Amino acid sequence: MKELIQALKKIPRVDLGAFPTPLQPLKNMERDLAFKNIYIKRDDLTGVGPGGNKARTLEFLLGEAIAGKSDVLIVSGPVQSNLCSIAAAACAKLNLTCIIVHNGKEEEKAVGNQILNRLLNAEMHFVDCEGMPARDQYVQGLVAKLEENGHTPYIVKNGSATGVGSLGYVSAIVELVKQCKQESISLGTLFAPGGYGGVSAGLILGNALAGNPFHIAVMSVEDTHSELHANIMNIINEAKTLLGLSLPKNFEDGWHICDDYRGEGWAYNTVESEKMVHSFVQKEGIFIENIYTSKVLVGMEDYIKNGKVTGNVCYLHTGGFGSLFSQF
Ligand SMILES: *Cc1c(COP(=O)(O)O)cnc(C)c1O
Repeated sequence: MKELIQALKKIPRVDLGAFPTPLQPLKNMERDLAFKNIYIKRDDLTGVGPGGNKARTLEFLLGEAIAGKSDVLIVSGPVQSNLCSIAAAACAKLNLTCIIVHNGKEEEKAVGNQILNRLLNAEMHFVDCEGMPARDQYVQGLVAKLEENGHTPYIVKNGSATGVGSLGYVSAIVELVKQCKQESISLGTLFAPGGYGGVSAGLILGNALAGNPFHIAVMSVEDTHSELHANIMNIINEAKTLLGLSLPKNFEDGWHICDDYRGEGWAYNTVESEKMVHSFVQKEGIFIENIYTSKVLVGMEDYIKNGKVTGNVCYLHTGGFGSLFSQF
């Protein structure tokens, strides 16, 4: 753990959010499932823009950008990308220009994160294309133009699921270990989403380097087990090189992936996930959304009901509040 904290200190980072995020009991869920000690880690309340996991990620990405004297951030994603809105808010705070490249058409009437982007007055480009290569090519064109005009752009790649970005969740493990100690809470399994795998890679690596204080249960919301596993391992390999640390021997013991709850994949609701968006806020007063956060909760509830977890459990709420308003 000490070694991990030292290694993290050497990496450029900016102060963006409100940390530690709260760790709270889910009392009504405990009662309904007759299961003791269910917690929620409120990374929906990270304190920048609409909140969410990308604030942790951006502390390291923007740290790298500023260390490299960049003055413009280029971030890309679908029209309802949570990353793009949080990045625009973070750039406002740090006096950087933010350019958003969306793969998708501009909506006639803005909803969800599009409203936030307009309020932020972020420069938005819409590339109506199929797949990432065309979008990335567009970004390359933008970079060339900006450089011609004397700017130093920094590109956020792969939806922030990179080695550098994942350090936000390596560091979240350090935060959670400390918080558990201070608040006398012991946690067994931490349930987290797997999209591209940036969040989960960081959690898994941080947990392993901290000596496996938790078990990380990654609920895929997008890809199959083997696809997500490959993505996670690539990101972990990048991140451990950045930290200058190697994977401990018992690395494999601290985590697993489950792809049972993803349905047809990213942004396809399942019957259960759609129900959960309603039932969870009605039970606990905490909003979740369809694409990421709901499927993780469906998985966690199913694990609890079927006796697949022992010990205390914790749900990592990764946010997505902005996109919720485009989903209904
Ligand atoms: C981006 C995002 C995630 C997933 O992160 P990955 O690093 O791509 O796995 C999870 N939840 C929310 C709300 C997000 O916006």
